[in-house]
Amino acid sequence: MVRQCHAKLLPALSTKNTHSLTRPFEFSILALLTLPAVKPCNSRSLVTEPVDFMPHNTRITFPGRTYFAAILLILASVFAVTGAVAGDKQYYDIQYKARLDPESGLADVEITLAGEQLPSKLTLHLDPSRHQNLEGEFLTRESDEAVWTPKGERASIRYQFVIDAKKSSGRYDSRIIDKWAILRSDKMIPPISARAPKQLQSRATLAVEVPRKWNVLAPYTKDDDGIFQLRDPGRRFIRPKGWMIAGRIGSRQDVIDGTETVVAAPLGKNIRRQDTLAFLSWTLPELKKVFPQFPNKLLIVMARDPMWRGGLSGTRSLFMHADRPLISGNRTSSLLHELVHVATGIRGDHESDWIVEGIAEYYSLQTLRRTKGISEKRFKGALKDLAAWGRESPNLLVKRSSGPITARAVGVLHEVDLEIQQSSGGKRSLDDVVKALAKERGRVTVRKFRTLAEEAAGKPLAQLNRENLSGENLRK
Ligand SMILES: [Zn+2]
Repeated sequence: MVRQCHAKLLPALSTKNTHSLTRPFEFSILALLTLPAVKPCNSRSLVTEPVDFMPHNTRITFPGRTYFAAILLILASVFAVTGAVAGDKQYYDIQYKARLDPESGLADVEITLAGEQLPSKLTLHLDPSRHQNLEGEFLTRESDEAVWTPKGERASIRYQFVIDAKKSSGRYDSRIIDKWAILRSDKMIPPISARAPKQLQSRATLAVEVPRKWNVLAPYTKDDDGIFQLRDPGRRFIRPKGWMIAGRIGSRQDVIDGTETVVAAPLGKNIRRQDTLAFLSWTLPELKKVFPQFPNKLLIVMARDPMWRGGLSGTRSLFMHADRPLISGNRTSSLLHELVHVATGIRGDHESDWIVEGIAEYYSLQTLRRTKGISEKRFKGALKDLAAWGRESPNLLVKRSSGPITARAVGVLHEVDLEIQQSSGGKRSLDDVVKALAKERGRVTVRKFRTLAEEAAGKPLAQLNRENLSGENLRK
């Protein structure tokens, strides 16, 4: 999910690793000897050195090593039993490789699958203007979809990804030049749906090849060889997500309340990496009280023109134009706004974007108030200004919320917050509602939000009547 929030409220500024171990003993011994069975889930070696298993009837002898073999035999039996008890998960490996080439402006991408069993069918949802020259065996392409039915224990496809991309404003949200590249890995690797038995799970890595003296950052842990170990709990087919920056880059990092936070930008002066990190060190812990599931890794990518002049949130990461102030004149904070998007991971439907944007804006203000970045008086003043602006656009029930719509949404959320606090005798607040939404993530509807809010209040909330949300009653 990515949200773009271009100065929306700133009018003044522009198992276990098991091969189920059901095979004959020879297999188990061989497996122990040649690598896999005891490696951790994200072991790179499983990806880059897939084991070519010998045929099942291969006899293995250990001349002069009978004692060693005996121990292995015992170990193998133990593992066979444990494997059987541990059940049924089986893993295959996905290796993503991308070579970023500033000269052509392209990333050469290769996706390799390896394992005893692979998904029977993968559907890639491509962007035809950016994913080009797709090739590989057992692959058919039809405009923006490609169907891949891999055979055997190892299969690969390759394509080229056009890195540069502009938004309608003419500003880049993805860019490569001779000194750096900023892009989103979940655009480079398109959404992929995989058909596979339920017990078949993936492990995945991303290797990024870049010109000499370039560094690469993404919101994932790197192994000793610089390969990203991808994680996506709950997903059976793992692919990289979030912002990436590569090149001659400068970064500052710290662990803030358990979140490994990195602020990175192309080398150069006047990019406030350290200020940004300091700002986060006093605001992020407060935000994490409301959103305890906040990712344990956070990458903030900053750059100047011709990049997008606002903020863009992504998975465990966000982009922020380097010219944006940490706190704006109207006392909202674009950075905190995007962080709330990262924290909640929610998206709207045809009429609920105001909830998503309103929560981001309201909690950016609340976080500043709670950390004493702004006083109670200034907090109230900011709400009043937003309410005045919100009167320009009373209908919240629209597809995209920005400017005055989000400003009005903040007012409605504040009223709901006060009402919940009052009716629960201070025991509950809007925090409980957004906490529940963030726990579920995904799509939020007006009905879901209303149900949660009224549960917290213990009574119906007139503020959330459709008549109020559509602004009809304001026109009467
Ligand atoms: Zn937003």
